[in-house]
Amino acid sequence: MSAHRPLTGRIVIATHNAGKLREMQELLAPFGIEAVSAGELGLPVPDETGHMFAENAAIKAQAAAKATGLPALSDDSGLCVDALDGAPGLFTADWAGPKKDFHAAMERVERELQKREATDRRAHFVSALVIAWPDGHEELFEGRVFGRVVWPPRGEKGFGYDPMFQPDGYAETFGELTSEQKHGIDWSKADGKASSHRARAFVKLAAGCLRRT
Ligand code: IMP
Repeated sequence: MSAHRPLTGRIVIATHNAGKLREMQELLAPFGIEAVSAGELGLPVPDETGHMFAENAAIKAQAAAKATGLPALSDDSGLCVDALDGAPGLFTADWAGPKKDFHAAMERVERELQKREATDRRAHFVSALVIAWPDGHEELFEGRVFGRVVWPPRGEKGFGYDPMFQPDGYAETFGELTSEQKHGIDWSKADGKASSHRARAFVKLAAGCLRRT
């Protein structure tokens, strides 16, 4: 028997990031969940003071659940480059600066690699998804996808660092894949396979807390 709490009805997606919001809405689509975003509700952006992706995801989900009285789903994620000792990691969004310039952020990754004369281009994305309920109960699901960072960036699809990340087993970057390919989930097969870090975390969340409609 599942010890997870089922997630039904109306929820808040605790993000102000348009790319993440679109992906989370796509992933929730088969489950009959009515999702509004923190941005649409005018909720403030909480300070991400945690030292782990999971902590920051919990901060965002708990703040949105408390403010709205609805269950809240958040994602904290980032790109970790091996030769940069895991950077940008928790600071992945910050590397884009106040103008949220992700081309500049990708250039910085490349610059740092060149500074270190790094030949190892291994990297992975991490996603920590947290659902928090207004009574304080929360559940955490994590996913990772491994691959390499490429230069120059390729593709116009996706968001953030997608054009510089080529997942293992693919000739394309995430920026060149459709979002269906990036999610990589075939819900008709119960094999739990997914491609992206966020989709991998979501498959676990769905198995624990969601029912198909
Ligand atoms: P945060 O979780 O709000 O701290 O931000 C994470 C940052 O990581 C985002 O702003 C994106 O730039 C980056 N990121 C997370 N997931 C992805 C992804 O799927 N593709 C590209 N960039 C991502």
